[in-house]
Amino acid sequence: MKRSQRIATVPPYLFAEIDKKKAAAIASGVDIISLGIGDHDNPTFPNIVKKMQQAVADPANHDYPPYEGTKEFRTAASVFYKKRFGVEIDPAKNVLALIGSKEGIAHSFLAFTDPGDIVLIPDPAYPVYAIWAKFVGAVPYYMTLEPQNGFIPDLKKIPADVVKKAAMLWINYPNNPTGAVASIEFYKEVVAFCKKHNILLCSDLSYSELAFEGYKPPSIFEVPGAMDVAIEFYSLSKGFNMTGWRSAFAVGNEEVIKAFSIIKTNTDSGIFKAIQSASVEALLNSEKYCAEQNDKLISKRRDALVNGLNSLGWKITSPKATFYIWAPVPKGFTSLQFCAEVLEKCGIIIVPGNGYGAAGEGYFRAAVTVSEKRIKEAVLRMKKAGIHYS
Ligand SMILES: *Cc1c(COP(=O)(O)O)cnc(C)c1O
Repeated sequence: MKRSQRIATVPPYLFAEIDKKKAAAIASGVDIISLGIGDHDNPTFPNIVKKMQQAVADPANHDYPPYEGTKEFRTAASVFYKKRFGVEIDPAKNVLALIGSKEGIAHSFLAFTDPGDIVLIPDPAYPVYAIWAKFVGAVPYYMTLEPQNGFIPDLKKIPADVVKKAAMLWINYPNNPTGAVASIEFYKEVVAFCKKHNILLCSDLSYSELAFEGYKPPSIFEVPGAMDVAIEFYSLSKGFNMTGWRSAFAVGNEEVIKAFSIIKTNTDSGIFKAIQSASVEALLNSEKYCAEQNDKLISKRRDALVNGLNSLGWKITSPKATFYIWAPVPKGFTSLQFCAEVLEKCGIIIVPGNGYGAAGEGYFRAAVTVSEKRIKEAVLRMKKAGIHYS
């Protein structure tokens, strides 16, 4: 069998050692607390599940869906954008259904880049951007996210010859893995930058509904004129506890959506119509479930972990959005060494920051996707093991 050159571009898997330690811990009966994965422990909201139960029984939902998404799904996307962001989008022209954002992010590279093009990618970041840039023969240029800039890229630092060859620029706020959020001022700056340099601005909006204390993360399209240069990937996964359902959509101008559709119609055949029907319910009628989950559950867990780590010497401020805590590892450890230590001594899984790019070295990511009680137990175990930040 021949393996494509493409496969060889995938970076080596970094966490084999941690996986081995995890397997050994589980085998010896250790009660593992996993703060590793960005996936809800709670079920999908009940209104969505109920809608799905009805929709799946309806034979009208059993055939191939329209490629671009059902009219109801695209209309719900536009109603949601108007209500949530104050943004007008035409369901007939500006929306394309995706089988989860990951699918859409991956395939967008086929629609909008050629081999040799540069793709501007944050570091650290969701790994799919850089991997797909390489899959299509494009060249990632990493924009380092620095803590002193609030993990916002400094566009002025990108060399002019790089900018000239750039086809796409990726941003993701609220951010995985850092939990950072972006201001509308930064959005204005990045829209102007991409307009000036004729770059497609790709906004990965996966965490807009997972925000706290009344903070409402913006859409890139809240910037006037953004429709000229941007595409936004809106995922239902994290906001509505729908990671397993595979439902998302892209928003962009007619030309962008048409180009993207050429790849999509020749690749897949859309989202199961029953899931689209349940997604309509998610987009239109889940506000109170989102608010309740954010206020009563996730923000409390976040505070338990932030306060717990701070009692061990860290100086972390609570993120305004996402379910991630991004924190530096103590002196004398690499990211990998620290995560291995915490696993071995405490039975806690956290993720080494360098899994999200070279600039993530020196950090770890913890997801508050277990109960407050388990988070407190995790902190107690760290304290007992003498783990502290210095
Ligand atoms: C979870 C996540 C995705 C993937 O979302 P799906 O819609 O479930 O595919 C994309 N981008 C980021 C930054 C994520 O954290």
